[in-house]
Amino acid sequence: MVEDCVFCRIVAGELPANVVYREDGILAFIDIHPAASTHALVIPERHIEDLRHLTDDDAALWLRLTLAAHHVAEELGHPQGYRFFVSVGPGGGQTVPHLHIHVLAGEMRRLPV
Ligand code: 5GP
Ligand code: ZN
Repeated sequence: MVEDCVFCRIVAGELPANVVYREDGILAFIDIHPAASTHALVIPERHIEDLRHLTDDDAALWLRLTLAAHHVAEELGHPQGYRFFVSVGPGGGQTVPHLHIHVLAGEMRRLPV
C-alpha cells in the first residue's frame, strides 16, 4: 500500500467508496465525478502506478481486470455495451497514479479528462 495514494486508501477502507464489485485482488467502485450515468473504476488492489508498470507476471491480473469491467457493466445494467478506457501517465491525462479502468455506460455527460 502507498500511504498517500487515494485508491490504496479506498482498498484499505480508510476512505469511503461506493463499491460495486470485489473479487480476489480487484475492486470496482463508482467514480466520484461521474462522466456518464454509469461510471465505475476497476482497479487492482495492489498498487500498480499505471499500465506501463505491468509485467509478464501480471498477464492474468490484466485479463481478470478486463473481465471484471465486463462484469461491472452488466451488473450495473448495460449488457448492450460500454466504453472502456485507461489513462496512462500524466501525458495521457491520468490524475490518480494507481492503475484503473474507466467503465462508462448509459448517458455520456462528458469525456473525462
Ligand atoms: P484519471 O483522471 O486518472 O483517468 O481518472 C481518475 C478518476 O478518479 C477521475 O475520474 C476521478 O473523478 C476519480 N477519483 C479521484 N479521486 C477519487 C476518490 O477519492 N473517489 C472516487 N470514487 N473517485 C475518485
Ligand atoms: Zn495505490
